[in-house]
Parts: sequence; C-alpha cells; structure tokens
Amino acid sequence: MIDRSLIADPALNFIADLVEAGEPVGRDSAGKLFSTMDIIGLGAIANHARESINGNRAFYGVNINLNYTNICTLRCPLCAFSRDACDSDAYTYTLDEIERRVREASGSGIDEVHIVGGLNPDLKLEYFEEMIGRIKGVDPDIFVVAFTAAEYDFFSKVNGIPIEEVFSRLIDAGVGALPGGGAEIFAPDKRRLIAPDKISGDRWLEVMRTAHSLGLKTNATLLYNHVEETEDIIDHIIRLRSLQDETGGFKSFVPLPFHEENTRVKPARGPRAGFDDIRLFASARILLNNIPHIKALWMYLGEKMAEVLLRFGVDDIGATYANEKVVHSAGASTPDYGTEEFLLRLIKNAGRDPVRTAADYGGKRG
Ligand code: SF4
Repeated sequence: MIDRSLIADPALNFIADLVEAGEPVGRDSAGKLFSTMDIIGLGAIANHARESINGNRAFYGVNINLNYTNICTLRCPLCAFSRDACDSDAYTYTLDEIERRVREASGSGIDEVHIVGGLNPDLKLEYFEEMIGRIKGVDPDIFVVAFTAAEYDFFSKVNGIPIEEVFSRLIDAGVGALPGGGAEIFAPDKRRLIAPDKISGDRWLEVMRTAHSLGLKTNATLLYNHVEETEDIIDHIIRLRSLQDETGGFKSFVPLPFHEENTRVKPARGPRAGFDDIRLFASARILLNNIPHIKALWMYLGEKMAEVLLRFGVDDIGATYANEKVVHSAGASTPDYGTEEFLLRLIKNAGRDPVRTAADYGGKRG
C-alpha cells in the first residue's frame, strides 16, 4: 500500500488509487504528475509501482560500448558525435579492430556488447553480419544489443531489402535485442528542429513493431531537455504505452537528458532542474505500467542523481559502458567508464539489491 501520509498534493491521491488498483493512469492525469511540487508524494507512488514490479532489485550491466563509425549522412543538429566522411577525425572500425576490442574486454569478463553508430552508406549488411559473427566467435555467450531503429531503417534502404530481412539476417548473426535509440521526441514540430532528416516518430514506432513481431525485445528512449514541451514528453510516453499494449516487446524505458555541447541545438529554457529529472522518471514509472523496467543511465545523469532516482521509480542504472562516445562528444562530465565496483556502490548507497544482467534481463550473470 502507498503511505498516504507522504502525499501532500490532493491531486495525487486519485493517481495513487489507480496505481494501487493496477489501473493505467490516463493522459488527463499525466499533466498533474509533471507539474506537482509534491516530489515526496510523487516518489511514494512511483516507488510503490517500482517495487510492485521489481521489488528491491536494481539492475546493472557489465558491457562495452562499440560506436563502430562516426560517419553519418544525416548530421542531425542534436548530434555532437557524427562526422562527414571527409573530416579528419572521421573513423570506421575494421572488423579486426572490433574483434580485438571485444576479445580484450572479454578477457576481463563482460556480458554484453552494446553497438550503435552513424549511418554510413559504405557499410553493407555483410559488414554487420560479420561484426556480430566475430563477437559471437570470441564468446557465444556475449549478449549483443545492437543498432537504433534509424540504423535498421537505413540498412534496409542501403541494401535494398525489406526491413524484415534485415532483422532476420541480424538475428541469425546473433543480435539479441535493440537498445532503443533514435526515438528522440516523437512530436513532429520538435523533431524537425533537432533531427530533421531522421526517420519520423511514426516510422520509429513501426520499426519497433516489426522488431517485436520477430521476437526481438527492445528498449525505448526519450531525449529531453532540448526544445520539447512537457506535453510532448507525455505524448511520447503514451504512444510507447499504446505500442506496448499491442506488442509487449519493450523491456525498458530510458529517458536521456540532452547534452548540448558541440551540437547545433540550443535548449529552449536552459537545463531542466533536478526536480524535473525526478518528476520525469517517477512519472514515467507511473504511466508506463506495462513496461517492466525504467532505466536511468548514470553516465547521462551523474552518479548522485542516478542514486536518488533508484528511490523514484528507477530499477536499472545502466552498465559499465567502456569507451562511450556519443554523450561524451556532447559534453557529459561523467567518466566514460564505470567499474562494476562503482555500480555496486551506487546501487548499495540507495539501499537496493544489485542484480547483474544484460539487455534481456534474463539469466544469471556475473
Ligand atoms: S544522431 Fe544518429 S543519425 Fe543523427 S547524426 Fe548522430 S549518429 Fe547520425
């Protein structure tokens, strides 16, 4: 039961009733979650929802990040990572380089390789099939979580084959799940400002629907803290909930605070406050009653906020992510690698029980 003595905002009591009854909270009530100043009451509701699904467990992963190329034809205004092919710091990893990196990491005991990169027309599907094959060749038990919906859509276009065929060939190669990137914000007017040439929000959802229909589980992201309004965030979350009702394929929702350094996007209102981060994660936990996990990437949010959020709806703080380049190109001040001990300390500081896992949240690891 939710401790009602913690709720000071009367508007939250109705939402607490719904959450206790296991009923979805409607779009009309979502605005109250995002505007309340009663952060403690909101946290009590979100914590109840979190513990109903995940108890006291908090998930983390031991992985490496593989940003295989920074060459990208889109050059989205939001992106600090991408380069044109002619730029002096443009790069693409060879398959030998990828295998070397994975072999080195495997020696220190990783469970997962997390792969995303730019949309590079020189890389055909065979490159990705062999990439995954080589990773599995190092250790068949390494879990591969790979490519955004924008990448899958691009692979389909570049190779002139249906997206279903892209998925089935990469599943055969060993892809186990999708990390859920590229969702950004679905609202077309805001998406046009931050990523005008990227697939639309509708197409992102369609790609995910296809992935789910082929048995792939995925995350779903949201990029916030740029030009979006609160209504856009609510709409994004409700659209994810609708697709989840249909497919059940989302494992985790991952809100990502935008970092503006080296990008061409100027946030509309300046950085959101810590309260906004807490409201967003707690509200997401309450609204997405059909998605099992809410993930707060410590690398994006900072160690202290990630700890706090473990008491405000979050049950996953992300992974070690050795060699992360995307958010660090945009000015993230966190280190680009956290040890397992660091993640364990972070979780234990919040009084949670750590569980080592991969993007499938399955099996016993570590
Ligand atoms: S956000 Fe992704 S698609 Fe857009 S420019 Fe960067 S790497 Fe390319």
